[in-house]
Amino acid sequence: MSENPYDLVVIGGGPGGYVCAIRAAQLGMRVACVDMRKTLGGTCLNVGCIPSKALLHSSHLFAQAKHDAAGHGIKISGTVRPDLATMMARKDGVVKANTDGIAYLFKKHKVDWIGGMGRVDHAGEVGVALHDGGDKTLVADAIVLATGSESAALPGVELDGRMIVDSTGALALSKVPKRLTVIGAGVIGLELGSVWRRLGAEVTVVEYLDHILPTMDGEIRKQVQRILAKQGLSFMLGQRVTGAKKTAKGVTLSVLPAAGGDTQQVVSDVVLVAIGRAPHSLGLGLDKNGIERTERGFIKVNDRYETTAKGIYAIGDVIGGAMLAHKAEEEGVALAEMLAGQSPHVNYDAIPAVVYTAPEIAAVGKTEEQLKAAGTEYKVGRFPFTANGRARAIGETDGLVKVLADAHTDRVLGCHIVGSAAGDLIQEVVIGMEFGASAEDIFRSSHAHPQLGEAIKEAALAVHDRPLHL
Ligand code: FAD
Repeated sequence: MSENPYDLVVIGGGPGGYVCAIRAAQLGMRVACVDMRKTLGGTCLNVGCIPSKALLHSSHLFAQAKHDAAGHGIKISGTVRPDLATMMARKDGVVKANTDGIAYLFKKHKVDWIGGMGRVDHAGEVGVALHDGGDKTLVADAIVLATGSESAALPGVELDGRMIVDSTGALALSKVPKRLTVIGAGVIGLELGSVWRRLGAEVTVVEYLDHILPTMDGEIRKQVQRILAKQGLSFMLGQRVTGAKKTAKGVTLSVLPAAGGDTQQVVSDVVLVAIGRAPHSLGLGLDKNGIERTERGFIKVNDRYETTAKGIYAIGDVIGGAMLAHKAEEEGVALAEMLAGQSPHVNYDAIPAVVYTAPEIAAVGKTEEQLKAAGTEYKVGRFPFTANGRARAIGETDGLVKVLADAHTDRVLGCHIVGSAAGDLIQEVVIGMEFGASAEDIFRSSHAHPQLGEAIKEAALAVHDRPLHL
């Protein structure tokens, strides 16, 4: 143990930073974690994963009560209406329970939580402009930068927090807008667009590319677009938003076809800018410490999460890759263990991605497009939820499971699911892929009946042209 008061100082208390801090403390290190928010948990717990899932669930229950209850023989007398104030208060309560939970875990593991804006003064020294005034220097053997990301700005469409908002604003609207335009058909745009569509807004999604969900499998993207369109979301694909004008009638967006043509005007009450996330590293002292960034501004690291400055490491959204909480967590654990002399490994080929629309969309491994581009010979097995007993029983038959396996070895290379609980279902394939499972390994494993997961078994059987229920 060195003379320094800390073995490790982490800047950023999101899923990357707080998990790294806890794991390092479990391994016997003396750890401090600095965060500029008043609560721990970073983007994910405060303004990301958790509040969005709270609102997605509440709005889903509302939509079910309004549209589906009667079909299940449930009569609701009177009008089903959303009570937005209660919904938002519930969401805030869920966030608080989660962020308080991290503060409790820090206490339990004796991680010092320092509230303030952190910066690297020198290798081994973190300066903090404290929340309650004053400045403090923390001296440590190692520094971890886990400062996350923020919504990417769209030039010409300036946020005002009221009529033009980012995801944080869209999680806290005080009334349901009559017309909402979402710029960007990525995960965040579709999730938050779904929330407000279910609560009654007319939602238009404008996307520069000619398809939604750019990183997902092409066949899945098409299915999802059809399903969301049935739910009332309108899509304007291949369209570039070039500017916004606010008037008493709302916000007018100028929209230009990406392939050329005339500008159209799209008028709405609220605009959500959801064109992606940018790394958050301003004021950290990167340049003066020789910490290099990529062209897109992400902190450069090697496979041990070392930046270009000795003793300074970086993890999570700020280093790029999949901008997901669980990816940041895996990196946090791996880095803490490396610093303790262990040899952990993050398998980036088996990190799942989930979109929490209804139905959910989940993916792990390669898409068909990626396999084709790499020249990999593969087989596909598909199974629709219309042929799954449980899906019929619960009335959630939209979607399918698609398994991609190596044509020669049968090893599972990817799985893509659109369907109820897809985010939970994908986990069996993630574990399978971690252990190098073949499609046959999956279909020879017993799957409880009647379960939605039987569709995965059937899709794996379909890879071998022998589904039992199709
Ligand atoms: P962050 O969570 O961004 O945490 C970084 C922290 O560092 C922040 O608290 C920030 O305030 C602090 N910080 C930055 N600079 C400084 C500084 N100089 N000094 C002190 N503190 C600083 N991911 C999923 O996996 N599943 C989801 O369902 C999901 N939903 C999302 C929904 C929304 C609306 C959004 C916006 C994101 C969502 N994400 C989701 C992404 C997820 O939130 C991020 O991938 C994750 O939070 C990244 O973790 P991180 O620790 O790298 O950074």
